[in-house]
Amino acid sequence: MAGFTPISPEQGAGIIREGGLVAFPTETVYGLGADAFNPRAVARTFQVKERPLFDPLIVHVAEMGDLDALAHGLSHLASRLIEAFWPGPLTLVLPKRDTVPHIVTAGLETVAVRMPAHQVALQLIRLSQRPITGPSANLFGRISPTTARHVHDQLGDRIEGILDGGPCRVGIESTIISLADPAQPEILRAGGVSVEEIRDVIGPVRIPHGRGGPVQAPGMLLNHYSPGTPLRILEGHQKAPSGGCRAGLLAFKSPGNSQGYEAVEVLSREGDLQEAAANLFAALHRLDGAGLDLILAEPVPRRGLGLAIMDRLERASAK
Ligand code: AMP
Ligand code: MG
Repeated sequence: MAGFTPISPEQGAGIIREGGLVAFPTETVYGLGADAFNPRAVARTFQVKERPLFDPLIVHVAEMGDLDALAHGLSHLASRLIEAFWPGPLTLVLPKRDTVPHIVTAGLETVAVRMPAHQVALQLIRLSQRPITGPSANLFGRISPTTARHVHDQLGDRIEGILDGGPCRVGIESTIISLADPAQPEILRAGGVSVEEIRDVIGPVRIPHGRGGPVQAPGMLLNHYSPGTPLRILEGHQKAPSGGCRAGLLAFKSPGNSQGYEAVEVLSREGDLQEAAANLFAALHRLDGAGLDLILAEPVPRRGLGLAIMDRLERASAK
């Protein structure tokens, strides 16, 4: 890659231990890593991303011992979710230990934790010998990075290094479930583990936000994941806009008719929701770089990972 040399996990761990910032691959999206127990390093994450301080971070762990240093009183429910989905794209919100810096949790009494299913991420955490905060390695509110190149383009000159682990396999952020009240688990964000899969393991779970509505969790802003180009979700059989408007199409499956579009991205020819999620952000990055006036996105079915895809498209289309 021109002008960009990835660093090794050993180098990355050295930087983290010294209080620097390193971007690292996970199965969901690339994260911007800092030592979770170093408030100055964590504070710089917010600066670099231009992220508001009220938006708490997810802490990444490699071992159950790391979790123990962050949260206390694991409920039976938490243990079952960990057993079923870790390492993987599920974040648990749990009662925090006093030693977790306030800047990590935006002053909340809970902490969000997950164990990523990516060898490079796990290696970085183990070599650093501490949990690592890891918001997506992009500017706040913009399209999440699913390749090292995406990170380099947005943050390359603001951070100490980037680990390259190839394109992200899941491609969409983790599902967040709050167990702050173990009697009432709540899904705070749709993501890489589907609601159906979670219900199979723990039974009924609340989804407090209505269809398309904003989630009542800190930092869950309606306007997020936004390309610079305006994005609208297509309704029914809408035609490409005419009259000098350069429009791009973000199609779910092979489009029946792509006439009139300057650029077309297909998320999954066969209509596979996992494949579509994995391709979503890279397709948005390409459309955003194509000099268009407008991006029109086809809706996808709201089941499985489709719920998370629609959540991201709705936020990307919000003004
Ligand atoms: P990300 O932007 O992918 O780094 O995910 C961070 C999101 O996790 C935040 O925007 C919050 O919505 C959520 N989150 C993190 N910590 C907590 C917490 N303690 N309680 C509730 N939600 C949290
Ligand atoms: Mg993000």
